[in-house]
Amino acid sequence: MSDVVRRAVVIGGGIAGLSAAWEFHRAGWTVDVYEASDRWGGKILTSPVGDEPGAPMVDAGPDAVLMRAEAGRELVEQLGLTDEMTHPIAPKPAYLFLDGRLHVLPGGTVLGVPVDPLALEHTDLISEAGRDRAARDLTMPPGDLADDVTIGSLCRERLGDELTDRLIDPLVGGINASDIDRLSLRAAAPLLAEAMTEHGSLIRGLGKMYPQIGAALGGDRDESGDHGNRPVKRPPVFFSLSGGVGRIIERLTEELPATGLHLGHPIRALNEIPDPTTVDAIVVATPARVVAGLIGDVPAVRAHLADLPYAGVSQATVIIPGQPPLDAAGILFPRVGGTMLTASTWLSSKWPHYRADDQALIRLTSGRYGDDRTARMDDATLTATLLGELDQAVPLVAEPSAVRIQRWPSALPQYEPGHLDRVAEVRADLVRHHPRIRLAGAAYDGIGIPACIAGGRQAARELLA
Ligand SMILES: Cc1cc2nc3c(=O)[nH]c(=O)nc-3n(C[C@H](O)[C@H](O)[C@H](O)COP(=O)(O)OP(=O)(O)OC[C@H]3O[C@@H](n4cnc5c(N)ncnc54)[C@H](O)[C@@H]3O)c2cc1C
Repeated sequence: MSDVVRRAVVIGGGIAGLSAAWEFHRAGWTVDVYEASDRWGGKILTSPVGDEPGAPMVDAGPDAVLMRAEAGRELVEQLGLTDEMTHPIAPKPAYLFLDGRLHVLPGGTVLGVPVDPLALEHTDLISEAGRDRAARDLTMPPGDLADDVTIGSLCRERLGDELTDRLIDPLVGGINASDIDRLSLRAAAPLLAEAMTEHGSLIRGLGKMYPQIGAALGGDRDESGDHGNRPVKRPPVFFSLSGGVGRIIERLTEELPATGLHLGHPIRALNEIPDPTTVDAIVVATPARVVAGLIGDVPAVRAHLADLPYAGVSQATVIIPGQPPLDAAGILFPRVGGTMLTASTWLSSKWPHYRADDQALIRLTSGRYGDDRTARMDDATLTATLLGELDQAVPLVAEPSAVRIQRWPSALPQYEPGHLDRVAEVRADLVRHHPRIRLAGAAYDGIGIPACIAGGRQAARELLA
């Protein structure tokens, strides 16, 4: 073993790049992180809503991290943030706006698939015919899933169009700012793929994989007959931090040696890396099109990353004075409804750290792949349009006292069928051409924060090894 200190370079200072840097740092390597913009965090941003002194600092990108995935919890613990962890205020209903009215999002479902036979009994979101059609999944032959398909094609075949359009697409397509008729089953909904391959049915498979969800409905059911988000005690699904998700970025950049943190320093070609002869390992953690420019000498990188599609999102976060007009975690606006608004997140009802009884803090999200209508609007038109659409669902009695606009152009990679095979090909080709370079970030193994953390750390571990 040599005691020479090794040097790693990380390109891109979002959560994936900083997680890779954290891994190198913990192993005793020197690490330089180069970030093109003037702030750390990439899509993670906690910023003020309004210009007043003391304006609330609110998440403008992700506001929730999945508990189930270990990578997020582990990093929070290592950064000493466990005491700042918060969970959604339970139980708050979530709604869907369709047919001109609100429907409580039915409980007893996983990704919109009813795992409890009673899940859809008490909602008029899905007709009786739609429920019967979905139940055919239980008696249909398993089918052949040898090739990757779209989430939509599988769900339409197994469960019918009604459930697919009115429940599954708003949930699964919504998270990806996409529609499920273009997203890869294996890459964007691995749970559904697992249910089919392991159990031959979506309803039966997810029911076996999540017995507590069916059991919660069948056993610990409240007596109100409300089969929406009923008050059943379950471990929280998400966490955040009392200072917002941006606290993770703050702590990472506090822990990493300041001499290695370079803001406003884009790297567009490998020969732009300072002191290249001293570099032992490189992690590229930028969006895909930047990777294609950086290491375009690798054929699979050029072929598969240069044109990886991304969806853009435009948001208005508003403070509405007075009592919140709805006590909800949020409202989804399904694609079939035709609105520009895709979701409204009622942050002050959802999270304890944003809780307020005298005002509503609401984040309005628009934009999905193929729908960039709001991206072309000026800020005032965007705000008025999104508030107007929200007003159709929940009449708002007051004008906002503060507004924050956040544009995220090309923010969310779209995993199309065959994505995982293409990523495997890219990685294999990269190792052949550049054994000391690895890739990390939302373009590869999952867009969620835990997946990006795990990907960054794994990239660094491979190079450390
Ligand atoms: C509006 C929104 C809401 C979301 N909500 C959630 C949520 O609630 N929960 C969840 O888990 N996930 C959520 N996500 C997804 C998640 O936030 C992202 O997938 C993740 O943060 C991406 O991290 P990353 O490090 O891969 O990329 P990025 O955050 O995009 O970081 C890449 C970095 O590379 C930099 N860069 C680019 N070019 C160069 C260059 N040439 N040289 C140096 N640096 C460069 C960029 O400036 C950027 O900082 C959301 C995303 C968005 C947009």
